[in-house]
Amino acid sequence: MTEAQATSRTGKRVLLAKPRGYCAGVDRAVQTVEEALKLYGAPIYVRKQIVHNKHVVSTLERQGAIFVEENEEVPEGAIVIFSAHGVAPEVYDQARNRSLRAIDATCPLVTKVHQEARRFAAEDYDILLIGHEGHEEVIGTAGEAPAHVQLVDGPEDADTVVVRDPEKVVWLSQTTLSVDETLETVARLKRRLPMLQSPPSDDICYATSNRQHVVKEIAPDCDVVIVVGSRNSSNSVRLVEVALDAGARAAHLVDYAAEIDDAWLTGAATVGVTSGASVPDDLVMQVLDHLAERGFTDVAEVTTADERLSFALPRELKRGMKEAADRRAQEAAALAATAAGR
Ligand code: SF4
Repeated sequence: MTEAQATSRTGKRVLLAKPRGYCAGVDRAVQTVEEALKLYGAPIYVRKQIVHNKHVVSTLERQGAIFVEENEEVPEGAIVIFSAHGVAPEVYDQARNRSLRAIDATCPLVTKVHQEARRFAAEDYDILLIGHEGHEEVIGTAGEAPAHVQLVDGPEDADTVVVRDPEKVVWLSQTTLSVDETLETVARLKRRLPMLQSPPSDDICYATSNRQHVVKEIAPDCDVVIVVGSRNSSNSVRLVEVALDAGARAAHLVDYAAEIDDAWLTGAATVGVTSGASVPDDLVMQVLDHLAERGFTDVAEVTTADERLSFALPRELKRGMKEAADRRAQEAAALAATAAGR
């Protein structure tokens, strides 16, 4: 008998997905803002939401971060942090023109896709970028090679793609898509473009794939799946879709436990719980408390992968932290020398 099939003592149980919540890129981006606030003091400007989560953004705002939409809103010469979703090269140029001190918190796995776009554009490929129109990550990646990139927003778009040379075309993707839907889109593209090349390595990141995989495991046993995450979080929204596709009778996205409607739980014996890659785990714990108050006291964690990846902080920030540490050491040495000379 699997953990997911274990019988609850109360008749009401929770299957808690693992991995869930923060990925390495989100962890790094949030830490970047926190460390910048410690190092330089408030306010610190952040272009776009650092990660797509309401709670994270409002917590950082309380600590002194100011979120803006564009570089023009940042005072000349100030520090600006670019979000985990990445930016187009023109955004770096704008920052330079305003003498902004930019700290780039783009997730290294998004940067990898940017590098692929640059490389294939330099080799004069047509690039079919599978992703959601208007999403910041897609705007940033397309901005690397606008003359070479065409957006393919889902399987239906595959039928209308036009390329210059069907033997010189590659697909890349946004990192937070549905794995299954992307495979379907690629299959449809390949029916029309048999020579279509695949990215050198998966663009959909490990965190997106892992969170979808565990949801697929638990969903068939769930009457309802609660996904903690914000509506503008692509990977969180995908988890709701994956849960439904995998057999959950219902699935809902909530930012906070208080948004859970008791009607969703009526008649439910098994509730699945997971969270998107930009969600701190205390929000999930609040959901478990909320469910426990309604009789769902037996919680079984279902684990399908062990994640250990972490990323170093952006080098601009590390340089600033090192300079500050050196200054402190010099001041301490000067104080010690003065004291010794007394
Ligand atoms: S979801 Fe993936 S690509 Fe996006 S920040 Fe997390 S690790 Fe990076």
